[in-house]
Amino acid sequence: MVIKHYIWLFSIVVFSIWQSTQIAFWPVAWHSLLSYSLYIVVAIGIFISLWLNRIQPFLVLMSIGLLNGLLTYFAAPSEMNLSSAVLFPILAFLLPLNLLLWILLPEKGIYNKRFDIAVLSVFIVQGIAIYWLMTDLSLQWVEPLSLRVIEGSQVIQLPFASSLMFLLAGFVLSFKLRYHRFKVLYHAVVVILLLMAYGLNAFFQPGMLAWFSMISATIIIFSVIFDSHHIAYTDELTGIMGRRALYETFLGLGRKYSIAMVDIDHFKSFNDTYGHDIGDEVLRTVASILNTVSGGRAYRYGGEEFALVFAGKTAAESLPELERLRAAIAAESLEFIANGKPVQTQVKISIGLAENDKIYKVPEAVLKFADEGLYKAKKTGRNKVVESLSPPNKVNSRSPRATAKAIKANNSKAPSKIS
Ligand code: GH3
Ligand code: MG
Ligand code: MG
Repeated sequence: MVIKHYIWLFSIVVFSIWQSTQIAFWPVAWHSLLSYSLYIVVAIGIFISLWLNRIQPFLVLMSIGLLNGLLTYFAAPSEMNLSSAVLFPILAFLLPLNLLLWILLPEKGIYNKRFDIAVLSVFIVQGIAIYWLMTDLSLQWVEPLSLRVIEGSQVIQLPFASSLMFLLAGFVLSFKLRYHRFKVLYHAVVVILLLMAYGLNAFFQPGMLAWFSMISATIIIFSVIFDSHHIAYTDELTGIMGRRALYETFLGLGRKYSIAMVDIDHFKSFNDTYGHDIGDEVLRTVASILNTVSGGRAYRYGGEEFALVFAGKTAAESLPELERLRAAIAAESLEFIANGKPVQTQVKISIGLAENDKIYKVPEAVLKFADEGLYKAKKTGRNKVVESLSPPNKVNSRSPRATAKAIKANNSKAPSKIS
């Protein structure tokens, strides 16, 4: 999951940096188009964030939009004047600081009044500080911010304070990634820090900041969409696919498939003995082992039940893999601290299995039939796989009337071939 996101993020970074070397040769019309399209992309991103009630991407996009707006309005890159000399180092310092802040703040949604007021006051305080610095020109404040990394360097234009802030933000966010591996937005913001640092460093070349800002806003839009998709299809607790994904898989199953229903044995007693949190931990462990299924896919059906779908495989073909999973889970040693004491225990599962045939034609019916096998497994001692079998006379041989019907149909279709 993480790898495929790195691939598109990496491709965009490579493309945008390569294309940025061409910006100087772009026709004038493209430049004016770029300065508009940046705001359009930011506005689309803001609209999507509002729609999905996500404040983090909303604030990241606002920061990128405001940065561009302020810099183009007060400090056009083409003319190097006093206001650009003052405003640029301040904003270049504030952008990474803000991005870091927005990602460190919890995702509380947009429609949260107290949180919104707090965020608004952060913007207002920054606005007042910028206004004061611009009008008062208190150089003792601006000077440390405008100090260059290497004085007179053409390559590194970004001020020292800003570079440090970018590095710090990247460093802190990389740590956050370790705990939120599946949040695409956080990965995206680390990439955006890199791109915006690159864009701000080349700020005095026309179009560069707008280009990298537009790319960053596009990345945010992608990541918000990917994150929403992930939330919709993944089970929050276990991190494996949820029931919505299962039903979508049902729509694409071919001519042959088998479905297994898995249920944890005596799971209620885990909750009762060690508490709900340990119960959740057990669910995660079982799900992670089930997710190693080869030739099939694992889904959390609900509660302590899971479904395994084997597309293109008969029940007989998927049986060995189910046996492997059952044994792997039974062999897993669960170690945890419960009520202050270390506990070591085991968990076992029962499995019901069924395949599609002439009676059970649709996946929903096959799943119900697999559930009958599960019921039998529970009845007959648990920790086992039981296959539900349709009565052979109904599945494998046609009824005499159906055979007569089939012969008649064949005769009427191609009479010349029958001798
Ligand atoms: P059996 O072997 O017959 O399946 O017995 P069981 O105890 O596993 O079955 P039962 O249906 O009686 O209990 C299922 C329990 O699963 C009841 C419920 O509290 C618990 N459960 C369902 N979802 C969750 C969850 O998300 N987290 C935790 N911790 N417990 C859950
Ligand atoms: Mg159950
Ligand atoms: Mg159970």
